[in-house]
Amino acid sequence: MAKLIVSDVDVKDKKVLVRVDFNVPIKDGVIGDDNRIVAALPTINYIIDNGGKAILLSHLGRIKSDADKKDLSLKPIADRLSELLKKPVTFVPENEGKEVEDAINNMQDGDVVVLENTRFQDIDNDFGKRESKNDPKLGEYWASLGDVYVNDAFGTAHRSHASNVGIAEAMKKAGKPAAAGFLMEKEIKFLGDAVANPVHPFVTILGGAKVSDKIDVITNLIPKSDHILIGGGMAYTFLAAQGHEIGKSLFEPDKVDLAKELLEKADGKIVLPVDNLAATEFSNDAARKVVGDDIPENMMGLDIGPKTVEKFKDILKDAKTVVWNGPMGAFEMPNFAEGTLEVGKALADLTDATTIIGGGDSTAAAKQLGIAPKITHISTGGGASLEYLEGKELPGIACISDK
Ligand code: AMP
Repeated sequence: MAKLIVSDVDVKDKKVLVRVDFNVPIKDGVIGDDNRIVAALPTINYIIDNGGKAILLSHLGRIKSDADKKDLSLKPIADRLSELLKKPVTFVPENEGKEVEDAINNMQDGDVVVLENTRFQDIDNDFGKRESKNDPKLGEYWASLGDVYVNDAFGTAHRSHASNVGIAEAMKKAGKPAAAGFLMEKEIKFLGDAVANPVHPFVTILGGAKVSDKIDVITNLIPKSDHILIGGGMAYTFLAAQGHEIGKSLFEPDKVDLAKELLEKADGKIVLPVDNLAATEFSNDAARKVVGDDIPENMMGLDIGPKTVEKFKDILKDAKTVVWNGPMGAFEMPNFAEGTLEVGKALADLTDATTIIGGGDSTAAAKQLGIAPKITHISTGGGASLEYLEGKELPGIACISDK
């Protein structure tokens, strides 16, 4: 069933509680990358442009002791948000109690308030981790502060916390709407719907270090995909399962049987590297050479080779839906980045396909290449996007009201 979206709800004169994902890298009060704040702007702007009052909740980092609070306040983020919105933003250094309630009661239509880090609730109380373990009373309290709830925090959607699931459940119980924000709507549309019902040919590209991290993604996507291209460290456990020599390459011996099973189940859909860029050690300056699908004993495969790049490109050129998660090699080292960058370019060249990138490393590669604007959707969630690709129902999405 389709989910309720913020634009389906009347926000005028309403106190709109918005769960955003402002979990940005921050050090000594300096924000490293404000992408996640920028990604929340369409929803915030929609609410304030339509006469609503936007009350923002987010977690930031992990709070294990009082000492963590100093570096993990949302104050610098509220300041950055104010610059991006080009209007004042009120920061409240609490997220429960009179100061919060007074600030909300003083809001005019179009105002924005940011409450303090929701994870400050994870310590100094009888319940324990009130936010992270979803104390229902906390969700009920936050729900009592607003008329409408909007969840725009996809990055947290695989977690059941008080500020996403707890509030949404309490809102619905009180007969109030719990809607998705525009960022969440986009993630549902692309990572959820486009992958569940893809336009064919549907090509999945998987890479990264370990098979074990992606087993459920492969299992879920085998029946849906026309081809699954596998590169990165995980390819070598598959090659070993086929009886190839893999030298010193990344290898998970306890996953060989599983790799065999997946290859059988995929019935020819899994495409493995036919050549590799191998090196004597895990270093950018290591001696390297292109080898076939057997890696010499004293070497490790650190990138897919040029023939594999061509093979992958050839399959990709006809694709109508592509999902990519994980690099094709140890791409942080420039000498082993080419396979990943070439796959990124191949995606960018597709003009008549839905292209979706999930996961931090492939996203970083897309940015490094400057191809991000040519990709249909780059997911903002790491763990959440993987679990979504595994076909799981994410609690942070399931709790949103149906239309
Ligand atoms: P993941 O977090 O599972 O997506 O894995 C990403 C990491 O896998 C990156 O840090 C890459 O350097 C690493 N990686 C990818 N391919 C290889 C490889 N062939 N050998 C060693 N590490 C790799």
